[in-house]
Parts: sequence; structure tokens; C-alpha cells
Amino acid sequence: MFDNLSDKLDKALHLLKGHGKITEVNVADTLKEVRRALLDADVNFKIAKEFTNTVKEKALGQDVLTTLQPGQLMVKLVKDELTELMGGDAAGINLSGNPSVILMSGLQGSGKTTFSGKLANFLKTKKTKKPLLVACDIYRPAAINQLHVVGEQIGVEVYSEEGNKNPVEIAQNAIKHAKANGFNVVIVDTAGRLAVDEQMMTEIANVHKAIQPQETLFVVDAMTGQDAVNTAKAFNDRLNFDGVILTKLDGDTRGGAAISIKSVVNKPIKFIGTGEKMEAIDVFYPNRMADRILGMGDVVSLVERAQEQYDEDEARKLQKKIAKNEFGFDDFLSQIQQVKKMGNMKDLVGMIPGAGKAMKDVEIEDDAFKHIEAIIHSMTPDERSKPSVLDAKRKNRIAKGSGTSIQQVNQLLKQFNQMSKMMKMMQGGGAKNMMRMMGG
Ligand code: GDP
Repeated sequence: MFDNLSDKLDKALHLLKGHGKITEVNVADTLKEVRRALLDADVNFKIAKEFTNTVKEKALGQDVLTTLQPGQLMVKLVKDELTELMGGDAAGINLSGNPSVILMSGLQGSGKTTFSGKLANFLKTKKTKKPLLVACDIYRPAAINQLHVVGEQIGVEVYSEEGNKNPVEIAQNAIKHAKANGFNVVIVDTAGRLAVDEQMMTEIANVHKAIQPQETLFVVDAMTGQDAVNTAKAFNDRLNFDGVILTKLDGDTRGGAAISIKSVVNKPIKFIGTGEKMEAIDVFYPNRMADRILGMGDVVSLVERAQEQYDEDEARKLQKKIAKNEFGFDDFLSQIQQVKKMGNMKDLVGMIPGAGKAMKDVEIEDDAFKHIEAIIHSMTPDERSKPSVLDAKRKNRIAKGSGTSIQQVNQLLKQFNQMSKMMKMMQGGGAKNMMRMMGG
């Protein structure tokens, strides 16, 4: 995500490294590069200029006695300003009505239908809601089909009316259907066009007026850069929407849309789409995004993913084993299974501060644990629970059995010993926290 921008900002901010203090000259040099990086990422010119002016004022107004080094100070100022620009605090969605009605808007191809499905799935699993999806695209039967396919995939009912050419009626009937059948969220997917046009705008404005949604969301493809910002403006002028959904952030996105959109339409980005799968949806947190843009990783999201996998009972059992010195390779294996459930390795590594950048060019295998698992599977139950019995002969057999080398076996043993030692050291409150971090 935003690799190019991250790289350029990193280089710009490095200019201040080694300088003893902030001066007008070194600040100007740094910010010139920061501005260039933002413009290259397709951030609107005016916004980039205001951004660097604000940071400059703040930097020069800083007390020289600050405990931070100039480089660190500048990183902090840039980070704070990026966060502010992207919306400050995270914005939730309004689910107050019964049913609460959510209207999706956006151009064709922006990812509206996909996102409608993701949101329904998200609300169903995370917020225990009962959503109904509504197909209001009266022009393209394929679009209605697509929503039915999505609905089937996630187990959410889809409401559509074959032959009805009146989207206002369809939406109203869908809400009646929801009320009568106990659905508490109604997500209305509408027709999009390839570009903003009057007929489409009038149609969606009519639907909007008739159903009075609690939440009107504008979906936009992040890859379209400044165009995304212009389209957002056109839709907002007409619908006064409540929030933006930025899709396709998994691609080679330059970042301009994410950074500029909030300050142009003064509406928060609420969710992001990071892939074609139904699970590829994330709540948008401006500060975490700023961290990622600056190559600082996103530890908070990483820990949250770990917590989703955290099993209190398992953790307690593990703690007892560690205390009794009984932590073995079977436990190690189950730890690996937990970590694997958290997501793909490349994605996870990107969330570790500094690691994303350091490992940018390293090919990370989809299954990075393949060798480790093979080695452990080649051990006898006895060897797994008491690794101290592993002599040269046994190691040789394990390497052969797992299709690895004796060096790889030795390396795993070394890692295992270090980990056992660390766990022993961190017993008590510390160990619990560490295991929580590790998803155990
Ligand atoms: P709609 O016309 O606005 O309803 O757009 P669709 O939901 O049909 O999406 C258009 C295309 O973009 C489809 O091929 C989707 O699979 C793809 N797509 C949607 N969201 C994402 C995303 O977050 N990441 C990626 N890579 N592709 C996406």
C-alpha cells in the first residue's frame, strides 16, 4: 500500500537526520521534498501546499529545547498532519434505525456491489446484525445477478424485483419486506454509470429522498487518484453523503485519493476495501493509515487481529505448560496455526514497524511456515515433547523425512530454545501479554 509515497517521504524526512536543530533552511529543504512526494502521489496541489505550510509553521514554532531530535520531530509533525488531513478520529456508521437503511452510491466499476456484500458480511459477523441486500440497478441484469451471487456466498438474502423499472419503488418495497421479516439493516445497491451524468444523479437523488437513509455512502476506486476526488465532489453536491468508501487499496494505489478526499468534501472515509474477497474490508483509522504511509507499520491492527484469534482457555493451558517446563513442539505447532489464521504473511509483515520497508523486495512465501511444519511433523511424539533427546542421528533422520537440511533443523531448534527461554522469563503478567500479542 502506497509504497512509492512511503519511500519518498522516508527519503525526505531523512534529510533532517544528523542535523542538530531545526532551522528555516533545513525545514524548507525537507518540506520541498515532502510536497514533491505528495504531488507525485496525486495529492491535490492546493492540499499539498497547505499541508507543508502548516507543518512548517509548527516546526519553526517548536521550542528548541524539545526532547525530540529534529528528524523525529518532523516525522511526528508530518504524521499528525497526515492524520488530521485524513479525518482525525475514525468515524463509525449510523445503525440507529430499525431497519437502518444504508444507500450505496458511486460510479460503475467503483466496487459498489462488492462492497455492499462486504459490509453485509461485516455487520453480520462482527455486529450480529441481520442485513438485507437490495438490487436497485434496473439497467443491467448482470449487476442484479452479481449481487445474488455475493448474497449466496455470504448467506445474506438479496431483494430484487424482476421487470420493475422503478428503483424508488424497489427500494421502498425492500424496506417493507425488511420490516415484515425481521431484517434490521437494509443495504441498497444502486446503478452506476461510467461517468457522472445527470440522469443517474437524478435517479439516485430520488431514491435518497424517498427512503431517507440513515447512512449514504459514496464508493470510490482509490486507483483513480484526483478523479476520485472530483467524482466525490459531484456526488456530495447532490446527495450530501455521510461517508466515503475507498476501494482497491490493495492495488498499486498512489495514495492521493486517501489523503485528499476528506478535506475536499469534508466527509470522513469510513471503510476501505483491500481485495476482491468478502473479508477484505477494514474500518478506516486515519492515524493507523498515517503510520502505514510513513512506514511505521500498524501494530494496533496487528494486535487486534491477534486478539480475534485469542483463546483464553488455550492461553491458560499454555501458561501452565511453560511454568512446568513442558512447552514442546506440539505447542509450537499450534502457535503457528494460530498465527496463520491472522492473515497472509506479506500483509502481516507490512504491519510490523519498519519491516514492510526492510522486506519490500523479499519474496515472502504464502506459506512461510511450510518447512517448520514439515520438520515438526517428522519428529516422534516423544521428540516433540522432549526436544532435548534430539541428537545428531535423530536430526539427520528428521531432515531427511521432512525434505529439509540439517541446518534448517538446527535453526528451528535454536529458535525453539530461544522462544522457550523468553517465555520462561516473561512468566506472569508479561507472558500473558506476550502470548496475546502472538495470538496464542
Ligand atoms: P460496481 O460496478 O461499482 O458495483 O463494482 P463491482 O463491485 O462490480 O467491482 C468492480 C470490480 O472491482 C470487480 O471486478 C471487483 O472484484 C473489483 N473490486 C471491488 N473492490 C475491490 C477491492 O477492494 N480490491 C480489488 N483488488 N478489487 C476490487
